[in-house]
Amino acid sequence: VSDFLDPEEGFTREQLDELQEQRLLEILPYAYEHSALTREVWVKAGVHPRDIRSIDDFRERAPFIDQDTLRDFRARTGDPYAGTLCVRPGELGYLGSTSGTTGNPTPVAHAAMGPTETARGRELWSLGARPGDAVTVMLFSFRSGIDMLVERAPAMGLRRVFLSHTPAAVPRLFDVTREFSPVVLYLLSTPMIIAIDEYAIDHGIDVRREFSCYRAAVYGGEPLGGFARDRIDAWGLTVVQMTSAGDALPATECLERAGCHVWEDQVLVEHLEPNGETPTAAGGPGEITRGELPRGEMVVTSLADRASPLIRFRTNDLVLVDRTQCACGRAHSRIRTLGRTGDVIRVRGRAVLPAEVAPALEGVEACRAGLFQIILTGRDVDVLEVRVGYDRRHGDDLDGLRATVVDALGAGLGVEVDVDLVVNDELLKLGPPHKIPRTVKP
Ligand SMILES: [Zn+2]
Repeated sequence: VSDFLDPEEGFTREQLDELQEQRLLEILPYAYEHSALTREVWVKAGVHPRDIRSIDDFRERAPFIDQDTLRDFRARTGDPYAGTLCVRPGELGYLGSTSGTTGNPTPVAHAAMGPTETARGRELWSLGARPGDAVTVMLFSFRSGIDMLVERAPAMGLRRVFLSHTPAAVPRLFDVTREFSPVVLYLLSTPMIIAIDEYAIDHGIDVRREFSCYRAAVYGGEPLGGFARDRIDAWGLTVVQMTSAGDALPATECLERAGCHVWEDQVLVEHLEPNGETPTAAGGPGEITRGELPRGEMVVTSLADRASPLIRFRTNDLVLVDRTQCACGRAHSRIRTLGRTGDVIRVRGRAVLPAEVAPALEGVEACRAGLFQIILTGRDVDVLEVRVGYDRRHGDDLDGLRATVVDALGAGLGVEVDVDLVVNDELLKLGPPHKIPRTVKP
């Protein structure tokens, strides 16, 4: 039997399905009664919680909301919680916000010891943190980063070492790592990896030795690219990736590193055809990547959040969903975020996402940094035009390299591509390192 923090982690698929239905049928009347937004949306749709007697009823009849629904409610009423709050403000644990990927950050209210802290606690435990251990908390502060570990981690007997998520904190990171030997590093991003790498080179620091106390590090922010992966490997770190199940819950990999676990006792996840309302099917219009997993827009419903539950919230995130049992012993689904629904480009009808390009380049040594830009002539094109960065040390055979890249992208994306090669240094001038704009106008 595996060593889980909460018994729900070890639930079978059947137990999870049963618990989800039970919790769903409890939270719907609760949200309808206490959340002004939920009541307004459901009344308008002509649906009442008493009409919903199963998850199937819910899938068939429950109305959707999205970020625009929340923004509209907030603008009309002046309510910063957009009508989602079900408790008095004084009963909340803390306030955070979304990261603002698609507009201004929007507030998110959290209960003390709510679902987010449940998730964080399970993650830390699964990565090896035990009572008496220290953990480094270097989360960005938006999305309530640091507050996320307010109550559960100390209740687990963990000491938290707080640092800002900024390159300026790198010297302190090495100091506290030496002083406290923390076991989990929470969280690395590409900009932090670059900063740590540069600081270590400048000061002759052996990162592998300094970081040897860490059993695991958590990585988040954007897809883990070739450069970041190379550094992490060189430092000897075991890294797991983190994403988010909408704004309802964080989702993080276990040590099997086969997708980010969504805690299904806390949230109900649906995946639908992008811009449609039917479940995704292989080969359907939602098909984004090759392979066998269902993929589609992630829709989340809070099952355990009594403070600010989201009911059938369309996240605009395209994900792969793996509902098979994980080797860690958990039946909770695993997701991989592919991009936003608005990022899709159709090449002769085949859907492609910018996030698919870098993985397709990984096998081409000169292009391993994964730098590229899609030249966006339209959302529906015959040939995908891509500007691809290459290492200037590659040499002069650009025609040969171009042919290799065309083959790699064609095989990886399954569409016809036209490739323009540019040295990496030129592409990097277009933005902060490894965060250049992924799509550009011609
Ligand atoms: Zn697992």
